[in-house]
Amino acid sequence: MPYVSTAPTGDPGGCVFCNARSGGDDRAALILRRQEQAFLILNAFPYACGHLMAVTARHGGGLREASTAELTEVMALVQVGMRALSRAYRPDGFNVGVNEGRVAGAGVLDHLHVHVVPRWNGDTNFIPVLGEVRVLPEALDVTYDRLSAALDS
Ligand SMILES: [Zn+2]
Repeated sequence: MPYVSTAPTGDPGGCVFCNARSGGDDRAALILRRQEQAFLILNAFPYACGHLMAVTARHGGGLREASTAELTEVMALVQVGMRALSRAYRPDGFNVGVNEGRVAGAGVLDHLHVHVVPRWNGDTNFIPVLGEVRVLPEALDVTYDRLSAALDS
């Protein structure tokens, strides 16, 4: 019964991604770009300055449940985000990745979300990107404005 395996796995009412997308204020929600089936959002608890996520709009399911169209939009937004980060912050590299399940470090279980974390030579190499230590050299609204400008340039 395919319906069961693709049914929402949690309550959308308490979902940070659904709330961000339906909130009506993209700047307050840190949403940088919207597409039909995915959106690009700043991580409110970044591991590095400019930490983005490309997220499926649909509540329910992760990488295994995503449609090809959703995967295409998510990865296109990963690329758009990386290009904007390159223009705005000139990183030396990126970590791009997916955590699925609490045991793997996922904070939200009901949307596929791909993390994009810019990296610089000499940055916090010894702090695991998915660990607990966070480095916040810039306020989120400043990052939002810099990346919004870079997305439009
Ligand atoms: Zn949701």
